[in-house]
Order: sequence, then C-alpha cells, then structure tokens
Amino acid sequence: MNAYVQRVIEETKKKHANEPEFVQTVEEVFSSISPVVDAHPEYEKADLLGRMVEPERIFTFRVVWVDDQGQTRTNIGYRCQFNGAIGPYKGGIRFQPNVNLSIMKFLGFEQTFKNSLTGLPMGGAKGGSDFDPAGKSDAEIMRFCQSFISALYRYIGPDIDVPAGDMGVGGREIGYMYGQYRRLKGVFENGVFTGKGLTYGGSLIRPEATGYGAMYYLLEVLNHQGESIEGKTIAISGFGNVAWGICKKAMELGAKVVTLSGPDGYIYDEDGVSSSEEKVNFMLEMRASGRNRVQDYADKFGCKFVPNAKPWGEKVDIIMPAAMQNDVNLDSAKVIAANGVKYYIEVANMPTTNEALAYLMEQKDIVVAPSKAVNAGGVGVSGLEMSQNSERLVWTAEEVDAQLKKMMQNIHKASADAAEEYGLGYNLVAGANIAGFKKVAQAMMEQGIF
Ligand code: GLU
Repeated sequence: MNAYVQRVIEETKKKHANEPEFVQTVEEVFSSISPVVDAHPEYEKADLLGRMVEPERIFTFRVVWVDDQGQTRTNIGYRCQFNGAIGPYKGGIRFQPNVNLSIMKFLGFEQTFKNSLTGLPMGGAKGGSDFDPAGKSDAEIMRFCQSFISALYRYIGPDIDVPAGDMGVGGREIGYMYGQYRRLKGVFENGVFTGKGLTYGGSLIRPEATGYGAMYYLLEVLNHQGESIEGKTIAISGFGNVAWGICKKAMELGAKVVTLSGPDGYIYDEDGVSSSEEKVNFMLEMRASGRNRVQDYADKFGCKFVPNAKPWGEKVDIIMPAAMQNDVNLDSAKVIAANGVKYYIEVANMPTTNEALAYLMEQKDIVVAPSKAVNAGGVGVSGLEMSQNSERLVWTAEEVDAQLKKMMQNIHKASADAAEEYGLGYNLVAGANIAGFKKVAQAMMEQGIF
C-alpha cells in the first residue's frame, strides 16, 4: 500500500480509536485508492487525505421536546457537513437510539464519495439524533421534528446543506421539518430538503429510488456476467423503505425476494414477498405501524419466521443486505460463500464488516458490489428533486425513472472502468471508491489549501 495512505489510516486509527465505524469506513475507502495516490505524489504535500478525513464542520445540538404525558425529554442532534468540495452538503437525517458521533462521521464520509459517484454536484453530509421513533405518537414525532429544525435551520439551505431522510426519517418527518423551516425563515425555499411530499416540491419516484436504483445496478452486474434476473432468488435484510423498493422492482422484473428481516428475526416466504402487490404493500403497513416487527408478515401470510436470526443462512442466488451497518460478519460471510451465493450486493450503508468484505471479495465465484454505488440512486434522485425545485417544475415519473436508470448504468460503468484502468479487473468495490474519490480529490486540489 502507498506509504502516505498507510500513514493516514494509522493516524486515523490512533486519533479516533473511540469511533470504530468511522475508522472502519476510512480504512475501507482509503485502502482502495492507494494506486491513485501512487500516481499523484502531490497529494501528500497538500495533505489531501489528512484533510479528507476531517469533516469541514460537525456539530451537536440540544433537542428538547415534550411527550404526550407532559414530560420534557432531551436528545442530542447532530449534523456532520463532511465535504463541500463538489456541491452543497447533502445527506440524510437518521433517527435511531444508536446514533453517535462515530456513526454520523462514517455516514458523512461515505456520503461524500457516494454523492460524487452520482455525477451530480452534491457534497457529503449526514445528520440525526439518538431519538427513538419507535412507539411515538404522531404528535410526539411532530414536536420532535420541529424542535430539531429550530436548532438546525440556520445552518442549512438550498445552496448550503440539503438534508433528506434516512433510517427513522421518511416523508412524514420531512414534512414536519420543512414546515418548521418555512415557519422560522418565512420563505418558501423547498430546495432545502429532499424526499418531500408531492404537494410541496417532492419528486415522483423518490420513495422508490433507492430500491429501484439497487435493482438497476444489479441488472448491470447480471448483464456483465451474461445472466438474466428472471427467476433469481434474493435474500434481503430489513423491511423498510429500501427493502420495499427492491421488492416492487423485483416483482416487475420476475425475481423472487424470499426473505425480510427486523430486530425480532427474519421471515422466509418461499413464494416470494415480490409475488403479490398485497405482500409488497403490507411492508408499508408494517413500517407505518411503528411496531418494528417482521413477524407480523409471517403471521399474516403464513410463512416461516425465525426469531433472533439473520437470513444469511438461506440458499439463494443473490444477497442484498438492506438493513444497517455491520449486518454481515465473517461467520455469515463464510456461510454465504459455502451456500454458493453468486452475487453479494450491498445496499445499506457499510452492511459488511471489513473482514467479511475482504473474505467475500477473495471468493472467485462471488461478485461483490458496494453500497456506496448500489444505493446511490436514492441520493441521486434527491439531486433530481433539487433540480426540479430550482427550475420550479415537475418531471413525470417516467422521466425521473429513466434518469435514475441511466445514472445507475453510469455508476456501474464508471466503477468497472476505474478498476480496469488500475489493473484490478472487475472489482466494483475498489472501482467505486476510486471513481468517487477522484472527483472530490481534484476539486479539493483546485480550490486551494483549506
Ligand atoms: N439517506 C440516503 C442516503 O444515504 C439519502 C440521502 C439524500 O437523499 O440526501 O443516501
């Protein structure tokens, strides 16, 4: 590995030993870009990598709200404006009890390269809170979102920083946050958020975009391998918005999604979750119920439910982890390889531990695709939503969908070409890191030292 890259990784490990997820993602991304740094010795003098691992700005704030019993509650809010070299900061907001500085920084760092890959002018950011939306009433969610934005509104804007949804934050939460922003600022500046409702500037296909984009990317991979998607079985984890988009598109393409998972365990539906609209639509109901249980699916449709387990032991053609970080560890990776799975397509951000990822990439018969490319369709369509907002017009679903598809094809091609250029073969993981990195690196070099 390039000595400068190695040194920055080691320093990051030392300096941020208490931020394991952040260190993990820095190591994953930077170990891929070593050949680019070899070709650019000027990066070391400009300490480009040392600057890249330090967020341009990151802050926490107090979020106070009153629950339905009249009790005052206090949470921590975060916004990490990681890198603005190629566009306004852009990235989701996550509400989940395990949100902390390390998670915000890993997501913001990852977002920087993902957004670069979309080809659109968006910098990288992430935000969130340790607030747990599970079991909260609608009024509590509204009060929390209003309080969150009262603290954050001065630091975001259509040309500054454009938040969106992530885990625990969907259309409803974005609505409350945008309402509070509009109320405080006294402007109709709807380009400040993406993932909005259709009545106030949202984009068609945004709810479907991450799942659809992942399936479009998968089609490119299968095409490269000379295979068709029809009849392929897919195991996914999660049962949220992303999993829903995957199932919807799988139904259209004739692929069979056989598993979903939640914090309570996983379901195995032999006929496929993607076999009927009723089943796919039920996923939305499960999510909206706030129960956060996947067993409800098995109870309703009479299929297998395995408590407290992940679906990685099931024999399928394709695995698509779509839940959360570090969902697949080395033991699971070994089972996946032993089961003869041919495609390991990451969807959630950093769903694989670094050792599991390295193990899977060593397997000659498995194609591995990285989440920063596979899930980029979500933020990609957010970019299209920003364009529509600034032009004050609305594109049809067909127009957005066609652009999304093209974007995923470009991302796959740019990644495959970048890996090829550095003699790495069909290495989509390294290729995505290299392609995403190069643009940000060049922009930073051209903008001077800061
Ligand atoms: N949270 C999503 C992501 O990880 C969407 C971000 C956005 O649309 O800004 O990319």
